[in-house]
Amino acid sequence: MLKDCIFCAIIAGEIPAGKVYEDDYVFAFRDINPQAPVHILVVPKKHIPCALDIDADNAVYVSKCFEAIAKIARAEGLGDGFRVVNNCGVNGGQSVMHLHFHLIGGEKFAEKII
Ligand code: AMP
Ligand code: ZN
Repeated sequence: MLKDCIFCAIIAGEIPAGKVYEDDYVFAFRDINPQAPVHILVVPKKHIPCALDIDADNAVYVSKCFEAIAKIARAEGLGDGFRVVNNCGVNGGQSVMHLHFHLIGGEKFAEKII
């Protein structure tokens, strides 16, 4: 865990968050500025700065994030579908440099991004 990282502090319980899920690898909580009826941040319990830093040694944290996403999506009633978004780096618009996946849903998105 990294000093001065807001998501490491949330994982450590030093900053309150609306926790929805936790296991040995993953912590998930509601985004403070939701962009959809359901907007949850799914975060590895290891300080991986961004998607460029995923490698063979830490990839288990990423697969565990996606296992968690499936569980959380069902629990949140997103069986009709949802989006998972990762912003990476300056050009990707990433604002918190601790890898995270936005799980958004609860409505039918009118526009496709891709
Ligand atoms: P990104 O721009 O992809 O790095 O996403 C960072 C996200 O973290 C944004 O959607 C913020 O609203 C969210 N966020 C920042 N601080 C907090 C916090 N303390 N609790 C919950 N969500 C947060
Ligand atoms: Zn961190």
